[in-house]
Amino acid sequence: MALKQIYMVDTKNQYLKIKDEIDSAIKNVIDSSLFIQGPAVKEFENNVQNYLGAKHAIGCASGTDALQIAMMAANIKPGDEIITTPFTFVATTETIALLGAAPVYVDINPDTFNIDTSKIEEKITPKTKAIIPVHLYGQPCDMDQIMEISQKYNLYVIEDAAQAMGSLYKGQKVCTIGDMGCISYYPSKNLGAFGDAGMITTNNDELAEKIRMITAHGSKRKYYHEILGINSRLDSIQAALLNVKLKYLDSYSDARFDAAMKYNEKFKNYFKTPYILPDVKHIFHQYSIRVKNRDKMIEFLKQNGIPSMIYYPVPLHLQKAYKYSYKQGDFPVSEEIANDIISLPMHTELDNEQIDYISSKVIEFNNMK
Ligand SMILES: *Cc1c(COP(=O)(O)O)cnc(C)c1O
Repeated sequence: MALKQIYMVDTKNQYLKIKDEIDSAIKNVIDSSLFIQGPAVKEFENNVQNYLGAKHAIGCASGTDALQIAMMAANIKPGDEIITTPFTFVATTETIALLGAAPVYVDINPDTFNIDTSKIEEKITPKTKAIIPVHLYGQPCDMDQIMEISQKYNLYVIEDAAQAMGSLYKGQKVCTIGDMGCISYYPSKNLGAFGDAGMITTNNDELAEKIRMITAHGSKRKYYHEILGINSRLDSIQAALLNVKLKYLDSYSDARFDAAMKYNEKFKNYFKTPYILPDVKHIFHQYSIRVKNRDKMIEFLKQNGIPSMIYYPVPLHLQKAYKYSYKQGDFPVSEEIANDIISLPMHTELDNEQIDYISSKVIEFNNMK
């Protein structure tokens, strides 16, 4: 059989396997005309609560909004400092900046690519209000360390779990460890909608009430606005199809993990394969390795029909919009990894033949003189 076309992420074939179920869930919403805060939204929120073991799960319009809403609920104000990683998607920093607060970066651990918890404490000042750990590529951060520091200094912990819904830290789902968790259902995420969608989780009743109000223009009762809010709702159609896909999330995570283990087996004599912390479940939102001549490798793979991506080519402290007083050399681990990291095709539909082919081409390039 000929090799099937290789995609970075294959949401189309994933959909086709459960097409009837998804289509009927979408049709139900259309038939009901309950597009805004219809019953599908509540149902999905309840199902996510059960899935994660979180007391509250509140839908919103995107993962980016989830971060902003969580920080608004934590009362983040201009001048506050938020500790986070420079090696992540821009949304984490963007939302801090939108609230007038300052991102205070801590370099990453070269094995996990997550915030280096041994360097957090030295960055804490009287202005520090929160830590935002990002569970990058689907691997949990070292949450014990982060929670210990946050308790010592009385800081909020807002988990950016946009890439990690379903991953476990010491048996506990990420999103339920800090004060709040932020999830993205962007189509290519492990649980992907057919458009933008997001969610904030918390075990704290007061925060939950505030979060819900913020998503609804700062109101509990329509047209009575008690606090500053925004308009950020989880769309009913998205909720309905996410409800269907949530049932398959663990099997999706397992399929990604299996694909990662197959890559590992192929690469073990050539590359440092992704490190996995003891006592975690890594769900491999991305499979990323560090390579020589990265940009030439990308070209070579492309010529051979293999897509790849760089997550992320420029650490946030070197982005034009977010430079503050940072400069090249401030976070050397992030800078080095941004120069040689590559993410290979990773999704639920990869077959053995594709993994064999992709890994053989990666190794072939690596071995070229
Ligand atoms: C995708 C992502 C976000 C933003 O999610 P959207 O739903 O696209 O707004 C935030 N943080 C990280 C780490 C992400 O990967």
